[in-house]
Amino acid sequence: MKTILVEGREVALSNIFCIGRNYAEHVKELKNAKPTEPVVFLKPTSALIQSGENITLPEYSHDVHHECELIIYIDKDVNSVSPQRALDYVGGYAIGLDLTARDVQSQLKTKGLPWTKAKGFRSAACVSHFISPKLIDDINAQQFGLKVNGELRQQGNTKDMMFPCAEIISYLSEVYGLQAGDIIYTGTPAGVAALKSGDELELIWTDKIDVKFKIA
Ligand code: MG
Repeated sequence: MKTILVEGREVALSNIFCIGRNYAEHVKELKNAKPTEPVVFLKPTSALIQSGENITLPEYSHDVHHECELIIYIDKDVNSVSPQRALDYVGGYAIGLDLTARDVQSQLKTKGLPWTKAKGFRSAACVSHFISPKLIDDINAQQFGLKVNGELRQQGNTKDMMFPCAEIISYLSEVYGLQAGDIIYTGTPAGVAALKSGDELELIWTDKIDVKFKIA
């Protein structure tokens, strides 16, 4: 069983939801169409690693990209919640990586097949510890980014999300239902690029979280 660290407590992990194409500049860099409703995919819970563990790149890909994202932790079951009440179900926030085998994803997209092999390999879901929502004034104005080997590669602000956190939660609760223990990757800003063995990654949520991962 996989667990996550929420305010210092180990908590059982439930589903891993991910939102794709949520920042306009990233949609442009991959030449995708702008979505009219959230693009949702899932990762298996076995893909999760926490900071302190090393990332292992899958042998079947030669182009694994970093996607640095803000992550929501849901702490109460909920169906069909309105955006106005959605943040009441948040038990924490973290920063993490939605690692993506871009070469495999491109092949799957061409064939119209699901993305699981590109997005769900072991260590494809990296997470920091989760902090209390009480520490955050406005979740829609949070600056975060990623350094690789000391060089800034990605920088984003949650104000640029096409579907903000409350709308994502409302949408997922309506279509799928949300359960305590679910986490939600909220999409990546521009700047995605390939990783290689030995790379050192630093995920920074300004004034909140700073964690490192290393590629084995
Ligand atoms: Mg992503």
